[in-house]
Amino acid sequence: MTALTENIEKLNGYLARFREGGIQNLIAGKSRPAASGAVFDTTSPVDESVICPVARGGAEDIDAAARAAAQAFPAWAAMPAAERKTILIRIAEGIEARAEEIALCECWDTGQALRFMSKAALRGAANFRFFADKVSSARDGQNLRSPTLMNVTTRVPLGPVGVITPWNTPFMLSTWKIAPALAAGCTVVHKPAEFSPLTARILAEIAHEAGLPDGVWNLVNGFGEDAGRALTEHPAIKAIAFVGESKTGSMIMKQGADTLKRVHFELGGKNPVVVFDDADLDRALDAAIFMIYSLNGERCTSSSRLLVQDTVADEFEAKLTERVNTIRVGHPLDPETEVGPLIHKVHFDKVASYFDIAKTDGATVAAGGLRVGDQGWFVRPTLFTGATNDMRIAQEEIFGPVLTSIRFATEEEALKIANDTQYGLTAYVWTNDLTRALRFTDRLEAGMIWVNSENVRHLPTPFGGVKASGIGRDGGDWSFEFYMEQKHVGFALGQHRIPRLGV
Ligand code: NAD
Repeated sequence: MTALTENIEKLNGYLARFREGGIQNLIAGKSRPAASGAVFDTTSPVDESVICPVARGGAEDIDAAARAAAQAFPAWAAMPAAERKTILIRIAEGIEARAEEIALCECWDTGQALRFMSKAALRGAANFRFFADKVSSARDGQNLRSPTLMNVTTRVPLGPVGVITPWNTPFMLSTWKIAPALAAGCTVVHKPAEFSPLTARILAEIAHEAGLPDGVWNLVNGFGEDAGRALTEHPAIKAIAFVGESKTGSMIMKQGADTLKRVHFELGGKNPVVVFDDADLDRALDAAIFMIYSLNGERCTSSSRLLVQDTVADEFEAKLTERVNTIRVGHPLDPETEVGPLIHKVHFDKVASYFDIAKTDGATVAAGGLRVGDQGWFVRPTLFTGATNDMRIAQEEIFGPVLTSIRFATEEEALKIANDTQYGLTAYVWTNDLTRALRFTDRLEAGMIWVNSENVRHLPTPFGGVKASGIGRDGGDWSFEFYMEQKHVGFALGQHRIPRLGV
C-alpha cells in the first residue's frame, strides 16, 4: 500500500460520520441543524465530489448562539485563571490527540498538501498552550502613581465576540483567534468559511470534550451574506475578529457600525520579497520559492512579488524558472505533493484568469500558466517575468501559486516599488549589508518584515498588517488588548482638596 492509498483509507474512516450525519452547528453545547432546516454541500477541490451536507445557519441561529455566548459570559469571565488555563491546555491536548484526523480532513476539504497541514494542526495546539500560559497575566492590573490617588488599571474581558475565518488554513486560523479570546475570558460565536467547514467542527467538539462550559464556544456554519452578516450586526456581540479579504473587511465595518463593533482585521496582501545582489542568493531562492508556492500560494503572507536587483536578475530568474518547473503538483494526501488543488472553481477561474492578464499586460509566462488534469482545481506553479509594478499581476492579490518578478536597479527604486501597493502585510528583505537592512526596513510599509529569512511565526511577537492589510495585532499581549477592556479605578489616599461649587 502506498502512503497515498493508506492516507485515503484513513481519511475515509474519519469522514464516515460526516457522510452519515453531515455537519451541524454547535450552540450552547448542543448539536443542532439550522433553524430553517437548510443545508449546503461542502465539496473537495481534489475531485469536486460532495463531502457532506452542512447546516446553513442564518440570523436565527446566530441569535441563538449570541444569546448562549452572552449567557455563558459572566461565569466564564469570573472563572479563576488557573481553571480557565486547565481547560485551554486540555483543548491543546485534544488537538494533539486528533492531529492526524484534523490534518487529513483539512487537506481533503481545502486542497492543502499534507506535508504542510500535519504541522498546522500542531501549531493550532501551540496557540492554545501559548494563550493558556498567558491567562493569569491577562488579568493583571498596572499601578500608576499620583500624589492623591492610587490609580489602578485593570483589564476585563470584553464580552461575547464573533470570530469569522477564511478557507485557506482554516484550522490554524480558528485556533489563532479563539484561543486568546477564551484566555481573555470572552465567549465566542465562530462562523467558519463555507468552503472548509470540517475542522472547525472537530475543533469545537474537542473544546466541548475538554470541559468548556456550554455556550462559551458556539459554532454556526453558513454563508457570509446571511450568518456572517447577522453575526456582525448582533447587539450582544461586542467585537468581531475577522480574517479574510480586504473588501469583506470593509463590508463588515459598515455592517458593524450601528452596534459600534470593535473590529480586528487580518486581510489581504501583495507582499514583496526584495533580493539585493549582495545577498546569499541560494538561500533567497529557497525562501522565495517556499513563501509563494507552499500552501498552494493561498496564504496571506505569501511573497507574491519578487523584486530582484538587475545585476543578478538573469541568473536568479533562470534558477527560479528551473525550480518552479520541478515543483510537484498532486493529490494533497500524497506526502510527496508540494502543491495541491485550489479551493474551488470560482477561485480557480480567478487564478487562471491572470495567465491571460499577464500576457495582455506584456509580461512573460516563464513557468506554468496551465491547468493540470481535467478534474479538481489543479494549476501548475506559475512565474511571470518582465513585469512592471503597475501591471495587475503586480497589484492584485491572486492568492494562488503565482509569482510576479519585477527588476530594480537601486535601493531607492526597490523601496518605491515595494511600497507601491494598497497592501502592507509582510515583506522579506535579502541583503548582507546590515546598514541597508536597517535603513530599508525602517521605510518599508508593512506590519511584519523578515530579513534573510522566510516567514517564521513567533507567538509572542505582533502579527498584523498596515494599509489595506488589516487593523490591529495578534500575538503576545497584543491579543489581550483586543479581547479586553482597560478599566481605571482611582482610590483617594486621603482628603485631597475637592473643588467646591455653590458655597
Ligand atoms: P472572504 O473575505 O471571502 O471570506 C472570509 C470569511 O468572511 C468567510 O467565513 C465568509 O463567509 C465571511 N464573509 C463573507 N462576506 C461576509 C459579510 N458580508 N459579513 C460577514 N462575514 C462575511 O475571504 P476568503 O476568500 O475566505 O479568504 C481569502 C482572503 O483571506 C485573502 O484575501 C487572504 O489574504 C485573506 N487572509 C488574510 C490573513 C491574514 O492574516 N492577514 C490570513 C489568511 C487569509
